Amino acid sequence: MSNQLSDRINKLSTSATLAMAAKARELRNEGKDIIGLSLGEPDFNIPDFIKESGKKAIDDNYSSYSPVDGYADLKQAIATKFKRDNQLTYNLNQIVVSTGAKQSLANVAMVMLNKGDEVILPAPYWVSYSDIVKLAEGSPVEVPTSIETDFKMTPAQLEAAITPKTKMLWFSSPCNPSGSVYSEEELKGLAEVLKRHPNIFVVSDEIYEHINFRGKHASIAAIDGMYDRTITVNGVSKAFAMTGWRIGYIGAADWIAKACTKFQGQITSGANAIGQRATITALEAPVSKIQFMIDKFKERRDLILGLLATIDGFKLNVPEGAFYVFPDVSSYFGKELQGTPINNASDLAMYLLEHANVATVTGEAFGNPNCIRISYAASEEEIKEAVARIKKAL
Ligand code: PMP
Ligand code: GLU
Repeated sequence: MSNQLSDRINKLSTSATLAMAAKARELRNEGKDIIGLSLGEPDFNIPDFIKESGKKAIDDNYSSYSPVDGYADLKQAIATKFKRDNQLTYNLNQIVVSTGAKQSLANVAMVMLNKGDEVILPAPYWVSYSDIVKLAEGSPVEVPTSIETDFKMTPAQLEAAITPKTKMLWFSSPCNPSGSVYSEEELKGLAEVLKRHPNIFVVSDEIYEHINFRGKHASIAAIDGMYDRTITVNGVSKAFAMTGWRIGYIGAADWIAKACTKFQGQITSGANAIGQRATITALEAPVSKIQFMIDKFKERRDLILGLLATIDGFKLNVPEGAFYVFPDVSSYFGKELQGTPINNASDLAMYLLEHANVATVTGEAFGNPNCIRISYAASEEEIKEAVARIKKAL
C-alpha cells in the first residue's frame, strides 16, 4: 500500500537530538566505540532520596490514573517551588503537570495557536520548538542571533520581528543549545518591548534554571506586566537527572492551564503516577541536595572550553548555564577533510561521527547553521577523549 500518512506527519522533522542519539546507539551496537555527546541528558543517576520516594510510591500503590492536571499535593509542591525560587505566585488551578516539559510545550502550542499565528523564536532555539509550533499550524519566525551577542536576542531585534500576526515569543534561559543566560536586566529590556504589544504571550522555558553558573536565575513572569501573559515551563529532567521519569509542568493564567488540562485529558491523561510522587520529593528538597551535579557541570564546562580552545577554527562563547557548548565551526565550510567535503554544520557533525567516533548535533536543527552542539553531560574522561579525537580528525 502506498504511503497514506497525513500531511501533518510528513511535514514534521525527526528530532535531530534523538536521531543522532539513535544513530550513535546503532553504531555502538555494531561494535564502534562512539562517545555520545549528542543527547542533552545528565549522566548522573537520580539521587537516592528521589529514587526512594519512587519506590515508596510503588509500594503505596500509586498505580491508578492520576488527576489529568497532576496530584494536588504535587501541584502544591510546584506552587511552593515557584514562590521559593522564582517569586511567582501560582494557585493550583494555574498549574498543569505533564509528561515532560516537551508535552507542556506541545499542550501550550495546541491550545494557544491558530493557523498562521506567528511565534518568535530567537535562534538558536531548542530543537523541538519549531516543529511543535508547526504541528499546531503556527508559523515560526526565527530571529537569528550570533556569537557576538552571546546568542541573545536584543530588544531591537524583538521589536523588528513583531508583526500584527505575532502571537507568542518562545525562548529558553539558560538556553539549549547555546548555554546563554538572560539577566534580569536583559529580560526587562525584552519586557519593555512587549509592553507596547499587549497581545503577545511568552513561553519561558526554564528547565535549566538550576544549571546556571552565573548566579540568580531570572524569570520573565516576575517582571512587571509580564505575569498574566507568560507561560512558565519547567520540569525535573535536567536538574534532578529524571529524564526517563517524564515529568514537566507549567504555571500560567488559569484559562490557559484549564485549556491545557482539557487537551491533555484527550490525548494522554495524567502524567505517570510514580514520577509525580517522586517529583514532590525532588521539588521539596533544598537545592543544596543537587548542588554537587551543578558544580560538576561547571567543572566540565571549564574543562571542555579549555580543551576546545586549542582547536583552530572553533569559535566559542562562554556558556553560563545548561550543559552544552555551541561552537561556531563555519571556518571549516568549503574545505575538504580526508576526502569529505564540509559545506555546512551537518557535514561537520557527520564527519566527526564517522572520523572521530564522536556524536554531536548540527546547529541547523537549532536554527543556527554555523554551529554544532556538544553536550558536556559526560564524564571527564569521555570529554577529554572526545576532544582529543575531534582535534585529531580536524
Ligand atoms: N526544553 C528544553 C530547552 C530542553 O532542553 C528539553 C530537553 N529535552 C525539554 C524542554 C524537554 O524536557 P523533558 O520533556 O524531558 O521534560
Ligand atoms: N533536551 C535534550 C536535548 O536537547 C533531550 C533530547 C530531546 O528531548 O530532544 O538533547
